Amino acid sequence: MGLLQRFARPEYRLGREGEGEGADPEPERQFDAAATQAAPPPVGEPLAVPVKSSVQEGGDGVNSTASSAPDVHAGQQQPAQPIARALKVIAFANQKGGVAKTTTTLNLAVAFAEAGHRVLAIDMDPQGNLTMSQGIDPDTVEKSMYHVLVDGMPIRDVIRKREIDVACASIDLAGAEIAMSMKIGRERSLEKALKAVREDYDFVCIDTPPSLGLLTINALTAADKVIVPVQCEYLSMRGLIQLQNTLSMIREELNPDVEIEGILPTLVDTRTVHAKEAIEILEENFGDRVFATRIRKTIRFAEAPVKGTSVLKYDPEGTAAESYRDLAKEVLENGR
Ligand code: ADP
Ligand code: MG
Repeated sequence: MGLLQRFARPEYRLGREGEGEGADPEPERQFDAAATQAAPPPVGEPLAVPVKSSVQEGGDGVNSTASSAPDVHAGQQQPAQPIARALKVIAFANQKGGVAKTTTTLNLAVAFAEAGHRVLAIDMDPQGNLTMSQGIDPDTVEKSMYHVLVDGMPIRDVIRKREIDVACASIDLAGAEIAMSMKIGRERSLEKALKAVREDYDFVCIDTPPSLGLLTINALTAADKVIVPVQCEYLSMRGLIQLQNTLSMIREELNPDVEIEGILPTLVDTRTVHAKEAIEILEENFGDRVFATRIRKTIRFAEAPVKGTSVLKYDPEGTAAESYRDLAKEVLENGR
């Protein structure tokens, strides 16, 4: 799996070494044996085809050549069928504010990107914190998710390239729920918008506002999975049950397949008994749906957004960055 050698961290070698035909020593090889196998890799497996960032030019779609002959370029015709790569859309939701939804959306998105995946992060919160945390001022954003959701603007028009691609929010988004409420198919505006970019990404990470209104419903309707960050200091089981009820409704009416990928204990202060107890309560109630990764409380998470970066870029070697890499690894290993 030569492609994997580009990964910043050896732990991201999730594919079993020596399995299949992947034992290629060349680090920058553009083609991979697995790419020619009949079954497409599930998302979460290391990519079996080049990612855009590794193929500097003309990367799109030039990925199905037999890997045993990586030097065969122009002359050989590609097999007709493109390699299907399943996109995984993850919404980050909890109607409570301050539980690290935005922090988790950004840092997990960047951890996926670091692992070689193509990632889009979507800011569905009118507060625009995700947008800001990539150094973009929502007050100066002219085309935002508002226009995508309300006016049907192509989502590509509101994407800016930063550490990951970001579909920006602006303050207008606060009016989107009311404006959308008049539309037919108002719950599906985001799902519809995403159709145009499904081939471009491996992961779409959607940050949601602290409510279960139409913006969050759009996110849950477009999502395959939901990650629920929970602040362990002020754990609110009632809040989680409410979220579960909303998800049940979404499943019945709009998106039968959406599932909780995991519940993530955040802002964990391991020195306190309270935090330990809170995690125990979570595990008693949600069992193995609670991620093994815990995100500890550290000032780094407050410092990084001020610099307009993820914590992975701000303090790459720190434990904060490490914890989101661990989370990425967990999600990738669960990959379905
Ligand atoms: P939400 O999106 O759920 O409202 P945020 O991601 O904006 O929550 O986080 C709320 C605040 O907590 C922010 O100031 C953020 O920097 C901070 N924060 C997030 N995660 C941590 C952490 N693990 N340790 C310390 N502060 C954190
Ligand atoms: Mg937020």
